[in-house]
Amino acid sequence: MDQSKKINLLGLDQQGLLAFFKELGESTFRARQILQWVHQRGVTDFDLMTDISKNLRAKLQEIACITTPKIILDKPSNDGTHKWLIQMPDGNAIETVYIPEDDRGTLCVSSQVGCMLTCQFCSTGTQGFSRNLSTAEIIGQLWVAVRALSQDNGHHDRHVTNIVMMGMGEPLLNFDNVVPALKLMLDDYAYGLSKRKVTVSTSGIVPQIYDLKNACQVSLAISLHAPNDELRSTIMPINKKYPLKELIQACKDYVDHDPHKNITFEYVMLQEVNDFPHHAEELIALVKDLPCKFNLIPFNPFPGNQFTRSSNNRIHQFKRILEEADLITTIRKTRGDDIDAACGQLVGQVQDRTSRQEKFKEKLNKES
Ligand code: SF4
Repeated sequence: MDQSKKINLLGLDQQGLLAFFKELGESTFRARQILQWVHQRGVTDFDLMTDISKNLRAKLQEIACITTPKIILDKPSNDGTHKWLIQMPDGNAIETVYIPEDDRGTLCVSSQVGCMLTCQFCSTGTQGFSRNLSTAEIIGQLWVAVRALSQDNGHHDRHVTNIVMMGMGEPLLNFDNVVPALKLMLDDYAYGLSKRKVTVSTSGIVPQIYDLKNACQVSLAISLHAPNDELRSTIMPINKKYPLKELIQACKDYVDHDPHKNITFEYVMLQEVNDFPHHAEELIALVKDLPCKFNLIPFNPFPGNQFTRSSNNRIHQFKRILEEADLITTIRKTRGDDIDAACGQLVGQVQDRTSRQEKFKEKLNKES
């Protein structure tokens, strides 16, 4: 069979594999065997899957494959952060970042090649949108990261314990491919991560926040970045389509049925743009009655951008105001500064892609 017509089993979650083997007239426990071989043992050659009969292995060779993405550039930082440029089979490249801390190792996973939402403070947003990643390409980032870390000489303690869908792209605009990848992250036969340690970070695509609650119960982070519609629409055009009132209502609905859940609000600190004390006061009023915490992110400047990072004094003052209102607030440590760890920067340096930004801006304005 033509290689390109073979089905890539890397991208099927347990449900998908069950359907695949049912169609072949095979026992459903094959699904779990494949998950363990591929995701837990890292085996991609059917011939090495010794507990699968020879006949079935031959059949799988004919109709299926396990194709993983490839790391084409590894930028390790002095602080242990890795920034990988990962090439997809069609030649497109995306970024995946690994951040080790004392008690955890977080992998920041991309969901799209580029992004169509032109958030003004985001490097990816200035590079245009190419396409959605497939489920295999999303879970493939975790697959290659686990293998790369196991070969990281001298650092055998480095593992992926947490995932944030916070790399390039808006995950909820690639919902159908992202959800099976999330299910694989949670599946005990694949990566077995707890749902509290897998986080979808969204700019606020309201209808899909409601859908996510029913599809896959993971943690939710919102890229908030402004406390009112006027400012948020200026720096995040998606706010014109899904304003704050609707967004906060969707967040309340998301946490409603789970008393242990709360929402993380990401807030990039932009000097004299969104970092005044009255902005913190507005935030307190905005999230009233919503179980949540704040993560303040010192802006990581990139070429051609108009913003500057808030001073440490302003960031700490902002934090103190939120904390005085009993809101748990952390300041994200700036990591990997020496390797351009703001999302999208590495790809921007090595790839020249046709920008469709203007087209999507037009579309967004029409819809809003
Ligand atoms: S912040 Fe996220 S949603 Fe906004 S442009 Fe960047 S990648 Fe896209």
